[in-house]
Amino acid sequence: MSSLLPEAHAAVLALADVFEPNIDDASINLTFSRLLRHMPIALWVVDSRSAAAAFDRLRAEGVEDIEAYLLEHPELVELACDTVMVSRANDAALRLIGQDDESYYPRSVRHMFEATPQAAVRVMTAHFNGLRTHVEELRINASGGRVVDVLFLVTYPRPPERLDVTFIIMVEITERLVAETQLRQLQADLAHASRVSTLGELASSIAHEVRQPLGAIILNGNTSIRWLDKPEPNLDKVRHLLERMVENATEATEIIDRIQGMASKRIPIRSRLSLNEIVDVALRFIHQESIQRNVAIRPSLGVDLPQVIGDRIQLQQVVVNLLVNAMHAIDHREGVGPRQIVVTTEHEVDGLITLTVADTGPGIAETHLDNLFDGFFSTKDDGMGMGLTICASIMRAHEGEITAANRADGGAVFSCRLPAAGDEATV
Ligand code: ADP
Repeated sequence: MSSLLPEAHAAVLALADVFEPNIDDASINLTFSRLLRHMPIALWVVDSRSAAAAFDRLRAEGVEDIEAYLLEHPELVELACDTVMVSRANDAALRLIGQDDESYYPRSVRHMFEATPQAAVRVMTAHFNGLRTHVEELRINASGGRVVDVLFLVTYPRPPERLDVTFIIMVEITERLVAETQLRQLQADLAHASRVSTLGELASSIAHEVRQPLGAIILNGNTSIRWLDKPEPNLDKVRHLLERMVENATEATEIIDRIQGMASKRIPIRSRLSLNEIVDVALRFIHQESIQRNVAIRPSLGVDLPQVIGDRIQLQQVVVNLLVNAMHAIDHREGVGPRQIVVTTEHEVDGLITLTVADTGPGIAETHLDNLFDGFFSTKDDGMGMGLTICASIMRAHEGEITAANRADGGAVFSCRLPAAGDEATV
């Protein structure tokens, strides 16, 4: 619970040893004043015999679940708060509650539980259940309206120990709690900041992807208007341009759907799908980026492939992730050479459909091959290390698998295998 706990706990047990059952009152007084008074840990000695006697009566009546019983009979808790007596406290205890009056004790334990009344029930429950110690964090009222957060430890006597000597130790943890609160706030701020920056990245990627079809729509729209403004409007030309505009708008909508599908936790929709169509859409999606990065993407798609069963958006996400990673890898390659990605689909004999994405990047370091699919594994300065983790989890959800390897002539190749759809129904 707390790093202070073992220390304080050891102190309590050591104290229990000090008070041998056969030590008389006079020697307790002596020991207390000599040994415990100046101890730097706040200590109270409590006589809880009245509670112990009440517990004996309740046990005789057959009460077993004391917590439930006390919650039903709060008057018993009140009575204990008044009759269980603190017989003395050391200097550190008086300082902790802000008391400079040495005759403040003896008095009942009520003041200890004023700020956290439920703690009295828990302390009594532990006593009834015969526990040796009970520990919890609670708040106590101190003088001047101050409230102090403490780690509260109580150790109960067991026969043949002196039954009028229950120890209570408190360690102030106000500063620790303040530090913890500040830390939590800091973590929340950082999480917020990183969400904001992720949102910023997402927004700029949406802007980047959608700008291209929107630009085409504007261009085709303006050209259409010019054709219409001519003395003899060329309606065929305008119709053709309008068709292109519809295509561009559809493309923009698909991009938004895809990004929305990636960002939201949508429920996967399973249907029969053509893997080649999935690759087609993914290629259209990254077309613009591949031009900007000067990477040639060569599809080599199998003919008459059986369908697969799965979620269209998720499988598109896998292909797009692999293509984007491949483009990044090529960008990070040193030296000259072909900047090329080959995307292959084929039907393996054993009823599996395979998709491979092979690039001419630097390949994968042997030491990284085992970690690529681990969450947050990234070799990029700005990498999240989640892309391949998500791909692997999508493949698993499709009863498939994804593996990575290096190509003999350089570059990496990622292979996804999915079972070919049989006659089963889809949902
Ligand atoms: P991120 O791209 O954010 O780093 P990923 O999960 O997509 O996270 O990839 C994890 C790591 O796998 C990358 O940082 C990179 O080191 C490696 N990797 C992924 N794809 C390739 C590839 N085509 N060639 C070489 N290394 C790759």
